[in-house]
Parts: sequence; structure tokens; C-alpha cells
Amino acid sequence: MDKIDELWDDYLVAINGFGKPGIARAALHAEFERLQQERSGICNWTYEDNNNYWQTDCGDEFVLEDGTPKDNGMRFCVYCGKPLAEVIPPEDPENA
Ligand SMILES: [Zn+2]
Repeated sequence: MDKIDELWDDYLVAINGFGKPGIARAALHAEFERLQQERSGICNWTYEDNNNYWQTDCGDEFVLEDGTPKDNGMRFCVYCGKPLAEVIPPEDPENA
């Protein structure tokens, strides 16, 4: 069963006053804290000059036709939902 279904069942028990509402509320609270933790911080998008894509902190890759994520109006990582920060590594002096 999905985590959200479990929580929903707990929630129903809590609002109906059956079972152990205190425990259900604690479970919801703990899950809320966990999600907040997970979504805090930023996702760094590092530009890979050689292959012309952006490597994200959360382990994905994104190709932009033109410009930076900011140039394209992107403020959040499309994979993890955190605010995104652009990281453009300094040019390799040997290729400059
Ligand atoms: Zn991300």
C-alpha cells in the first residue's frame, strides 16, 4: 500500500475519533517534517560544457536548447522541486 494511503487511513481514524488519534497525528506530523526536510535546500545544476547539458544534484540531466535555466525562466528543479542554482564551472584553460 502506498505511504499516502496509509496516512489517509490514519487521518480518517483520527478525525473520526476511532483507534488511536494521538498516534495518527504524530505519524502525520513526522511525515510532514520528513517532506519538509527533503524539500529544503537547493538543487545545483552544473553545466557540462563538453556535452552541452546540465547535471542536477538529484541525479538527472537536462538539455537546454539555448541559454541557462534562469534565461529560460526556470526557478525550480523539474526533478526534485527544490529551488535550482546554476553552477557554471570555470573554463578549462587548456581549451580556452
Ligand atoms: Zn533536483
